[in-house]
Amino acid sequence: MTGTRPLSEHVRAHLIATGVLTTEGLGRRAGLRQCARCAAPVLVGLDASRCALLVVLDLAALDRWGEAMALLAGRPTFELWGREIEYRNHFKIAGGQPRLVIAEHDCRVRAEPSAEVLALFVSAPPRVSPRTVVF
Ligand SMILES: [Zn+2]
Repeated sequence: MTGTRPLSEHVRAHLIATGVLTTEGLGRRAGLRQCARCAAPVLVGLDASRCALLVVLDLAALDRWGEAMALLAGRPTFELWGREIEYRNHFKIAGGQPRLVIAEHDCRVRAEPSAEVLALFVSAPPRVSPRTVVF
């Protein structure tokens, strides 16, 4: 096979809807979405810069104990670097928890979104001073 074929329109629409592709191209920034099965808010994005997988994550920040429970339940964990997701392999887990750690989404687990995680993805409403309000 020579050359590359352009993405079909339905594949491109799916990648944009899941946050993998922006209208400008591929992106590493994760985005807030709603789980199609349980309607919980989730974070969707690529888990690495190379050989990345699309992951769907809960918005609850985990402490060490929470991460251990997630791993024992078979849910991989990830770090947030700004709006980018990084898979936590055994080296990173052994190295401690320097950043926000979240786990793969599981519809059976109800976890409250953390304010720290939401703050990264939800922009604050613009502040309007009383002098700029026009009626
Ligand atoms: Zn779900």
